[in-house]
Amino acid sequence: MRILHVAAECYPAAKAGGLGDVVGALPKYLELASQEAAVIIPGYHLPWILNQSWNRVFSGMIRLNNVQVPFHVMECESNELGFSLFSVDIPGLFDRNGIYADANSGMPYSDEVERYIAFQQAVLKFIQHIGGIDIIHCHDHHTGLIPFMVKHCPEYRSLASIPTVFTIHNGQYHGSFSWDKAYLLPWYDAQARGLLDWDNRINPMATAIKCCWRLTTVSNGYLNELQYQANGLEVLLRQERMKSTGIVNGIDNKVWNPSTDPMIAFPLQGDLNKYKKKNKIELKKHFKFEEDRPLITFIGRLVYEKGADLLPDAISKFLYEGGKASFVVLGTGDPGIRDAFLRIKPFFENYFDTSIQYNEKLSHQLYAGSDFLVMPSRVEPCGLNQLYGFRYGTIPIVRSTGGLAETVIDISEPGGNGLKFNDLTIDAMCNSFHRAADIFNQNEALATIRQQILNLDFSWEKAALYYIQIYQSLKNPTV
Ligand code: ADP
Repeated sequence: MRILHVAAECYPAAKAGGLGDVVGALPKYLELASQEAAVIIPGYHLPWILNQSWNRVFSGMIRLNNVQVPFHVMECESNELGFSLFSVDIPGLFDRNGIYADANSGMPYSDEVERYIAFQQAVLKFIQHIGGIDIIHCHDHHTGLIPFMVKHCPEYRSLASIPTVFTIHNGQYHGSFSWDKAYLLPWYDAQARGLLDWDNRINPMATAIKCCWRLTTVSNGYLNELQYQANGLEVLLRQERMKSTGIVNGIDNKVWNPSTDPMIAFPLQGDLNKYKKKNKIELKKHFKFEEDRPLITFIGRLVYEKGADLLPDAISKFLYEGGKASFVVLGTGDPGIRDAFLRIKPFFENYFDTSIQYNEKLSHQLYAGSDFLVMPSRVEPCGLNQLYGFRYGTIPIVRSTGGLAETVIDISEPGGNGLKFNDLTIDAMCNSFHRAADIFNQNEALATIRQQILNLDFSWEKAALYYIQIYQSLKNPTV
């Protein structure tokens, strides 16, 4: 089958979070399972994209606000990705240094609506041009209007028989916008207006949920949570439950391999203890911390959703009450949360350090060198960090929610692989830090857990098969 993934991110070309990881890995594993998979993303002016060689494979025009906008579809020459990668150049809209925000100032772009409506139309023109696509797989709200456009926009109706799959990676963001901007859309059937609407706004996430042939979320736990907590879309998700499936993300074992990872200083070669210790010491080039204590790390977006706002207080309380651990935070996001981390830093020299940036290489080094990885998420659709933690021998400390609840088993239970807490409170977090410090001091128990988590298999090989089953059931309903 020929499957085209349409997304705003794809690692290593463009990544801001888990969406990029998934779109950069799933197609590779679909290919390994004998499917033909390709990805199409906007042609941002990001370093990886600018450093590749591209061939122009299609040029066309889209209508945006009654102005004809030219675009070009480029195919990446690299055959290292394991799938075909296309990017859409739309001068004036995507030739910028960031994905969603300016790389220098951090200011989000204000024309997201124009950008993604243009991108989605260019993708559809390209699909009409190449023909032969069996499945259009759209990811998150940036591509949520495609399942609508192919059914209800005369310009794209020639594609109406191609099944669309829509995956929710993050149900909190809907990309909704005012009806005042409806003039940006391609012409659509008047009677289909209601499919665009949710709460008197055009809501691409809601539109995709209504119009796609099949809906998936990145874990089963998250699918259930969305029925009750989806930023206003709960009723809709309950209505569409019958066409929904939860599939836990895999990880790309080729990119995330502690034995071959070129981004870490000391790859894993037999002695697990030595590998952890050496990589931990290496981290001292970037952070100030006491290496004899367990190193507890947070990597991620500094946002409420991730529970990052509670960490400064939890870390302070733990250290004030004499807890024996060091902490490191790598992340970007909410300026208020960032400032809270920067405020506590001078009080806990050697026990707490932070780097406010997005840095892929440093994140790999932290997975390798840390002892524990904390994820106090309020919402976690799947969570990849805990899976990377397992792979690099770093024990996750997680709040039991969404994909974290599904993938982490507390060490007090059979098959335990991490530390879990339920309540999102400072006390519950401190208690977990104390438990982590205790385990760290029990050499044998620590070594056993580390070895056990290294052997866990969360590879895409398994998860990709679930997607293939869905594609097949759409293409051939009797399967
Ligand atoms: P999200 O909700 O942000 O998508 P996931 O757990 O699904 O959360 O994926 C997060 C991905 O982004 C992981 O690969 C993680 O290592 C990466 N990441 C997040 N913040 C940073 C950062 N500041 N520097 C490097 N990598 C980061």
